[in-house]
Amino acid sequence: MANTRSDWEQRFQSLTLEGRAFIDGQYRSALSGDTFECTSPVDGRFLANVASTDEADANAAVIVARQAFESGVWAKLAPAERKRILIRFADLILDHQDELALLETLDMGKPISDSLAIDVPATANAIRWSAEAIDKIYDEVAPTPADQLGLITREPSGVVAAIVPWNFPLIMASWKFAPALAAGNSFILKPSEKSPLTAIRIAQLALDAGIPKGVFNVLPGFGHTVGKALALHQDVDVLAFTGSTAVAKQLLIYSGQSNMKRVWLEAGGKSPNVVFADAPDLHAAAQAAASAIAFNQGEVCTAGSRLLVERSIRDQFIPLLVDALKAWKPGHALDPQTTVGAVVDARQLESVLRYIEIGKEQGARLIAGGNRTLEETGGLYVEPAIFDGVTNAMTIAREEIFGPVLSVITFDTVEEALQIANDSIFGLAAGVWTSDLSKAHTFSRGLRAGSVWVNQYDGGDMTAPFGGFKQSGNGRDKSLHAFDKYTELKATWIKL
Ligand code: NAD
Repeated sequence: MANTRSDWEQRFQSLTLEGRAFIDGQYRSALSGDTFECTSPVDGRFLANVASTDEADANAAVIVARQAFESGVWAKLAPAERKRILIRFADLILDHQDELALLETLDMGKPISDSLAIDVPATANAIRWSAEAIDKIYDEVAPTPADQLGLITREPSGVVAAIVPWNFPLIMASWKFAPALAAGNSFILKPSEKSPLTAIRIAQLALDAGIPKGVFNVLPGFGHTVGKALALHQDVDVLAFTGSTAVAKQLLIYSGQSNMKRVWLEAGGKSPNVVFADAPDLHAAAQAAASAIAFNQGEVCTAGSRLLVERSIRDQFIPLLVDALKAWKPGHALDPQTTVGAVVDARQLESVLRYIEIGKEQGARLIAGGNRTLEETGGLYVEPAIFDGVTNAMTIAREEIFGPVLSVITFDTVEEALQIANDSIFGLAAGVWTSDLSKAHTFSRGLRAGSVWVNQYDGGDMTAPFGGFKQSGNGRDKSLHAFDKYTELKATWIKL
């Protein structure tokens, strides 16, 4: 187990980085031979040349995925057998936790301690949870007249393609492939071009675990090439997506232009975190608010990026918040003490810094952070920032920044807080802090969001569904509800 930054550096020296696509149980270069360079935002080091797959590779992957599906080699295995193999896959991921954590951190910049404590175990857990569920889900018999037998059965959808982002590369992918594979589908994973390495690595682990070749395929490459090709493909049955709202909308169009494939979208957010004067513990609320914007460099779809504070406690709360943010200090992402790592790439860093300028220009007051830092490392680091005096009409309160920039908005009444909270095109998550049970319930009910946290921010595990209202998406990841996305319901009427 590596404990220091130099342990991790040593571990890196012994890594062999694979950058090829994984199709039909083998690593392969892109058919075009094209590659793109993968460099680390942690310190600018070169990591790998990665296959830049395109439509030709997508076609090849869909053919083998379809053949694997039709052959029944996976789809027709007993659920208990798929369970056994998937649990072995989860175990192999844990066996390789150091390697996968290192790849995840170097590829997209998050602190190594988070990769190790959160991303890798959560991925294994998602697989294990879906695997454990699959041989406990029963089909239904309809309440028919006596001369009929009505069977309501679920069938795997067929070929599932998933297009995922870079902020939690393994976890976001596993929320899709775990239920899809457990249900018997063939799967094609298109990781983000900014973070392809762990997806490529686990493909081999899937095969080693016993998932038949052709059932789990990985196509690294860009959205406008291989992503688009999968979304427009006539023989992909389901497209599962996590990413921005803009791309999500485009995928709906691609579906309409092709085969009406089911499109499941987990998109952006601009989540309100509402602190009432009667919050049970303002210190805890301040700490949670700081974590809600700084964890994972603020690159979190559910980031609590709009902090709504009741005016009567504003002067007391802001110093607590500024103080709590001090625990979130950028550091070299391979240092196990680091709480805030590197921003994923130069473009994202520029975008975050531009939003900070827009906040100032529009009259919000920057009261903490907001500068680029640690440039001497060669990495891309920014101090988490707090803006006070924000109105919900300002750009920094309306647009998803996807970086550590918090907007503090003051309110006077419960009605005003709810109106501001819901005044967004997004509806992914929300937090509410109050000791009044009735207010907690009525406010939660009024929030138009897929996840609501009361007197905490960011709770959750595999047991509850996750997803968005409004332009934050449709469908749900996690929990038994996730199986709805990867199965078709069939009604069979038997005349008795
Ligand atoms: P993005 O939309 O730019 O890219 C996501 C994926 O889509 C990438 O793999 C990309 O290559 C691909 N893509 C881009 N254009 C495409 C096209 N025309 N056709 C097909 N594929 C295309 O998002 P991102 O920058 O990678 O991630 C950040 C976004 O993800 C944020 O908006 C964030 O809120 C969202 N997100 C949402 C959730 C959720 O569960 N709701 C979770 C994590 C991240």
